[in-house]
Amino acid sequence: MPGIPRSLRNKPITIGGTTVRPGERRTVELELGALYTHTPTNMPVQVLCGRRKGPVLFVSAAIHGDEINGVEIIRRLLKVPALRRMKGTLIAIPVVNMHGFINQSRYLPDRRDLNRCFPGSQKGSLGARVARLFMREIVQNSTHGIDLHTGAIHRSNLPQIRANLDHAETLDLARAFGAPVILNSALRDGSLREAAAAGCTASSR
Ligand SMILES: [Zn+2]
Repeated sequence: MPGIPRSLRNKPITIGGTTVRPGERRTVELELGALYTHTPTNMPVQVLCGRRKGPVLFVSAAIHGDEINGVEIIRRLLKVPALRRMKGTLIAIPVVNMHGFINQSRYLPDRRDLNRCFPGSQKGSLGARVARLFMREIVQNSTHGIDLHTGAIHRSNLPQIRANLDHAETLDLARAFGAPVILNSALRDGSLREAAAAGCTASSR
């Protein structure tokens, strides 16, 4: 990469066995379980590796399959022209709970809440396996994370950020949204945020 000093160059990132190099943008399909029809399902992940080094941020949505505002937010985010000048790496996951999304349900087909299945396991329920896949491929590759939720059905919510505000960098990230409400939110057992707390996250439930 001419023009960028070696010390400022970004590193390649490998997700789901696919390596994305600085300046590249790729779609990676993480394999999920099959539907009851035996149709295979994937979790599509967009990986944008900037030319210059910086944070590795994941932005995820629809961990609750019927909370779909975040899916559109990510679609718009991926069109922002400034991404071409981005420092660091963006990992965008528009639909984490693909089974719930297809069924227009908050839950997985067995009524488990995916956001109570973290950090997951290799041989557990579908939720446990999806959670483990997300931890291994997304969270462990990231320095920062934003998990987008939507107010539940028949409920009106103010736009809000929920985060661990005792963590200075997380507080900075929370303020950057300009949302009317920022909540210091306790971690919930089994949530993505709890599982990722060893790193640094700003997210919701
Ligand atoms: Zn939610």
